[in-house]
Amino acid sequence: MPTMIDDNWVNCVKRKPIPKGTRLLVYKKYDGHCAYCGKEIQMKDMQVDHIVPVMKSYYGAKEEAEKVRKMISDGSFNEVGNLMPACRACNFYKSMNDIDGFRKRIQTQLEHTCRSTFQTKLAMQYGIIEYKPWDGKFYFERIKTEE
Ligand SMILES: [Zn+2]
Repeated sequence: MPTMIDDNWVNCVKRKPIPKGTRLLVYKKYDGHCAYCGKEIQMKDMQVDHIVPVMKSYYGAKEEAEKVRKMISDGSFNEVGNLMPACRACNFYKSMNDIDGFRKRIQTQLEHTCRSTFQTKLAMQYGIIEYKPWDGKFYFERIKTEE
């Protein structure tokens, strides 16, 4: 049985716009870069990503559901600590995943999809593109270790 989060909770969080001041803090968090791929983004193009995402149901993860419910009720869900600046592509691809889920999605699905298309294979044969494995570290993790 999945643990459900009440639809009202989900809607209440989603409908609540993130205040301008908070958006600015999120933008500055990584100096105008997408926290995931590291691409420079304009403030107007920035998507605000939730590190801990809200889902409608948590299959077999009662603790996770409880945590999200608590974050929503105490307001920390929409605070800078749970928010990341993201480019459109990363935000779209992260979707409802948490950080480790997103990492796994890139390492498995994305890499596999890219390498298995005819065009990519051919482009590799011609040396137009070169395959370079990803080290699995997001931008915000890379800059953390450099400091
Ligand atoms: Zn990105």
